[in-house]
Amino acid sequence: MAKSLTRIHLQVFLILLLSFTAIGYASYLAVRDMQQSSYYERASQAAEGAASRINELLTQQRQALEKTAHQPAVATVLQRGSSPERSRKEDEIKSQLTGTVSVHLLSRNNSGVLYPTETLDPVCLDYVRRMSTTSAPASPEFHAVGTPTEHYDLLIPVMDENRNLNGYLLAGFSRAPLQTILEQSLPPHAYMELQQPVAGGAVQPVLTAGEVSNASVATVASALGTGRWTLIYQPAETPPLILSGNRIYYFASILAAFIIISIVLFRLYRQTLQAVRHDIHSLIRMFRDLREGSVRVGYPTALREFSEIFDYLRDRGQKLVEEKEKLKDMGLMDHLSQLGNRRHFEARLKELFDASKANGPSSMLIIDLDHFKAVNDKHGHDAGDALIVGFANALRKVVRQTDVLVRLGGDEFCIIYSYAPLEKAATLVERLRKQLPREIPLTKGVMHPLRWSGGLSAMHDKDTKSDDVLWRADQALLQAKEAGRNATKICDPIAGLPAKKQIMAS
Ligand code: GH3
Ligand code: MG
Repeated sequence: MAKSLTRIHLQVFLILLLSFTAIGYASYLAVRDMQQSSYYERASQAAEGAASRINELLTQQRQALEKTAHQPAVATVLQRGSSPERSRKEDEIKSQLTGTVSVHLLSRNNSGVLYPTETLDPVCLDYVRRMSTTSAPASPEFHAVGTPTEHYDLLIPVMDENRNLNGYLLAGFSRAPLQTILEQSLPPHAYMELQQPVAGGAVQPVLTAGEVSNASVATVASALGTGRWTLIYQPAETPPLILSGNRIYYFASILAAFIIISIVLFRLYRQTLQAVRHDIHSLIRMFRDLREGSVRVGYPTALREFSEIFDYLRDRGQKLVEEKEKLKDMGLMDHLSQLGNRRHFEARLKELFDASKANGPSSMLIIDLDHFKAVNDKHGHDAGDALIVGFANALRKVVRQTDVLVRLGGDEFCIIYSYAPLEKAATLVERLRKQLPREIPLTKGVMHPLRWSGGLSAMHDKDTKSDDVLWRADQALLQAKEAGRNATKICDPIAGLPAKKQIMAS
């Protein structure tokens, strides 16, 4: 099936379009992944930053408390200070330390009982009891969460100069500095939460910043305050926008590449189309020249693929023109049909007969149009001529150049199948009948159904003259006419003609 250039170009265009879509989508996924991973990296950096600032603050507060606890005056107040002295000292410490909301100095008697505890909130007292039983430094703990007195406590032991435990310094700190750290470290749309363990293994959020997201985004956790607090960090869910940030440039470059390729393809398409049109015009010119019997030296071709075919056609055409000229010059051409005439036929027949001994026999088909006279009578002599010319042209199209095709005269034509034995020639004749058109135009609008009878025979070793095969082919033709026409009869050079049996019907 013939291919359409437009279709091919369209297919190429579609393939490119698909490729671009695939590349675009893959790149988009890659960019999104890249962005997301960098986002998580930033998120964990932000969380770590917040955690280290909180730890720093807690360390500073602890160190400040420890420094205060080492003051001998504090131990003295714990050992023997009166209630007013104790209160004064507590107020003094409170004013010295930044961020404190309450300070308690708790003494410890020989049996380990802490006092005074009456002014202490029960949860704070519980914290003091729990922390005082462990040797590890006390972790800070939030108390009264969600109430106006909310704070976190830090308990520091107080020793005398002999390293004896005199009691404790309990400082309550405001949540504000921690809250500020969370707010400052929080990137837009993210969420942070400081968690504190409660009884039963559960956790309680004590500080939050930002808005909690429902998306299943990963959280980053950091341990704080000697391990009791945990900072939960949830990165914001940012649905990747198609046209934002670098992606705009990315999509723009894909679009630009697509437009450039489309323009290039379109130009290519137009160039190809122009080149094909140009070559077809050259081809038409070549055929016109051939018909007029003058072939030029070269015909311009735009497509390299065509130039070889052009050269081949020009060479063959040149040969045909030369042959025609030669036949004309030698008076061997029939002027009406532009085929070889009887003289040409006789010369070629003799050549092939002489060569048959060495190269093998040739076969001969004599063709006679059926009821040709009726065409002359019905449509006129010119219509009869047109039938002869039309039939000759049709024969020329299907007969091989190596075979001999002549008009013997009137409505009689002959093909000599050079070096083709009878059987081969029989198949060629069968093919010829199929290849010839069903109708031949006589005059404008008048079509004549093509009917012809044929007589086929082949040369034989025992033939003494070239005319022997012609005689046998004539006999076969006669039999075809007698048998009702529009068929071919074969005369075998050895067996002769079969009894009146039609061999090859149309
Ligand atoms: P059949 O089927 O038996 O072949 O019948 P037919 O009518 O074809 O008869 P035949 O082959 O004998 O007819 C040949 C006729 O062709 C005779 C003549 O009038 C006509 N004729 C011969 N040369 C030419 C020619 O150059 N031009 C035209 N138009 N007619 C020609
Ligand atoms: Mg006839």
